[in-house]
Formats: sequence, structure tokens, C-alpha cells
Amino acid sequence: MQKSNNINKFSIGFIGAGKMGNPMIKQLINNGFNVRAYDINPKVTKKLEKENIKSVNNLRALGNSDFIISILPDTNNVETVFNNDTGINQFLRPGTIVIDMSTIAYSSAIKIGKELQKKQIEFLDAPVSGGVKGAIDGNLAIMIGGKKDTFKKSSPIFKAFGNNIVYAGKLGMGQIFKMCNQIMVGSHIQAMCEAFTLCKSKGGDLKLLRETLIGGSANSWMLENLGKQVIEKDDKAGFRIDLQLKDLKIASEAAFESGVPLPGLSLVIALFLETRAHHEGKNGNQALFKTYDRMANIKLK
Ligand code: NAD
Repeated sequence: MQKSNNINKFSIGFIGAGKMGNPMIKQLINNGFNVRAYDINPKVTKKLEKENIKSVNNLRALGNSDFIISILPDTNNVETVFNNDTGINQFLRPGTIVIDMSTIAYSSAIKIGKELQKKQIEFLDAPVSGGVKGAIDGNLAIMIGGKKDTFKKSSPIFKAFGNNIVYAGKLGMGQIFKMCNQIMVGSHIQAMCEAFTLCKSKGGDLKLLRETLIGGSANSWMLENLGKQVIEKDDKAGFRIDLQLKDLKIASEAAFESGVPLPGLSLVIALFLETRAHHEGKNGNQALFKTYDRMANIKLK
């Protein structure tokens, strides 16, 4: 890479233009980067074209990029894209930097990173937190694993996405930090649902409760953001139940592997599974409250 004094001239191939990817691509473009995007869903690509964002219709076309960034739903999607024989790996040049920002199994991130290293391609696992709103506002938290030197070279890109940019450590450590984040996210939303259920059972005003708690030590991102959606009965997803369960499963597998009991995580998984069993998988995390409604079966006067 010889362009370090003029990093915005770097070409970026962006893979996955969904809820998170679309606003992240716009942040890169607004920061002067030269971006071409690929998504497997042609409807998504059409939307990009309407927004005057350059898109390509196959992975090969991104092969000459300086950086590849991906943000895809699950481990299997990322493994497909970075498959040595059938994915983009066969088209990438030595010296390319690949940054995967999806939340996936850390063991898979390590495997992909090592395979790319064999081809002199650098790799960072860099999952994010902050939701779609954080992506739109350029205010994501980013947790990065991989070689420190690669992290430093990539920092102008991360700065386009947020201010809370953390070098977490070796390859895979970004995903470990993200799992810890998701354990807390799951517990926070569960705690909020319990508080709301008790308040509701006593005929309390949920709106007032939320405003009160926001001002005290029980405040959380969940209360500020999803608490409002619970009260307004707005199930629309930023982060959907299906993805939350995917993340909790990843965390649970890692805990099992380490032999550490995380009983709170097991409970939260059971509650989210109940919600998904009632066909809420495509709805936002806040639909967990419907499980509490079912369990409490409160008849409001
Ligand atoms: P999404 O489903 O909205 O977008 C994913 C995009 O990837 C889709 O457009 C899909 O067509 C595309 N895709 C799937 N497989 C592909 C392939 N093989 N090649 C090319 N494109 C492919 O999902 P999202 O909400 O943007 O989430 C993406 C990742 O970000 C997930 O790992 C999620 O856990 C993580 N994340 C999401 C949020 C959120 O609030 N939505 C917050 C933090 C982290």
C-alpha cells in the first residue's frame, strides 16, 4: 500500500448493503472514499443504483479493491463470501486489507483470517454496536481484532463509521468483545421487560416510568431506544430477534467451549426462543416484551 498520504483515494469493495451496510456505505462516500458495493439480493443493488451508489453484480468485480469491507447476516454468509475456491479470495491481490464487520463465530473469524494471511491478504474482525441509528449517524462502536499494524492502516475507514474505535487485541478478539456486548444487550432488554411488566401489573404509567428511570442509575441504551418502541407497540426492527438469537448462540457456544457457566445468558436465550416461536423473528428486539405480556397475561382496565 503506497497511498498512505492520500488514503481517501483507496478503493473499497463493500459486501452486504442491508440495514447496516447501506448507511455505512454512505458514510464512506461522504468521507471521500471510492466505494463499489455488492449484495447478493438484486433488489438491494437496485436500491443502491437509485441512490447513485456504484454497485457490481459479482464478487470478481471487487477483486482489485484496496480494502474489502463486509457486513453480512451470519457466519455461513461470511464463510461463503470468503471461501478460497468459490468466494472472493480467489480474486483478491496480496496486500489487500479485508475487514469483516459482521457478528460471527470468533472461531470462524480466526479461520478466515488465517486462510487470507496465507495469500498475504490482511484481515481484521471488526464487529459493531450502536444499531442502524449508529450507522446512519456515523456513531458506531467498533471492536477490532487482528494485527495492530493492519488496524492502524485501516483507522481512516473506521473513523468514517464512529468515534468509539477500540483495538481489542489479536485475531478474533473483536468478536469476543462483541459477544460480551450482546450478553449485556440481552440482559438489559430482559431487565427492562421485567420492570415494565411489574409497573403495568400495578396500573403504573410506563411512559412516566421510562422517563424516571432514564434519569437514574437504571438507565440503559435499551431503555432510551427500545423502551419507547415497547410503549408505542412499535415492533419494527432495527436489530431483529433472529439476529439477536444468532449472537446469543455464538456467545453461548464460546462460553461452553471455555467451560464457564453463564446462567443469565441461558435464561435470556430461552425467553428470546419463546418470542421467536411466536413468529416474531423478523421483528425488533423489543418484541421480547410480548413474551412477558403472554406470561403475565395482565388484563388492563
Ligand atoms: P441485513 O439482513 O439487513 O443485511 C445483510 C445484507 O447482506 C442483505 O442485504 C443480504 O442480501 C446481504 N447478503 C447476505 N448474504 C450475502 C452474500 N453471500 N453476498 C452478498 N451479500 C449478502 O442485516 P443487518 O441488520 O445489516 O446486519 C448485518 C450484520 O451486522 C449482522 O451480522 C448483524 O448481527 C450485525 N449488526 C446488526 C445491527 C442492527 O441493528 N441491524 C447492529 C449491530 C450489528
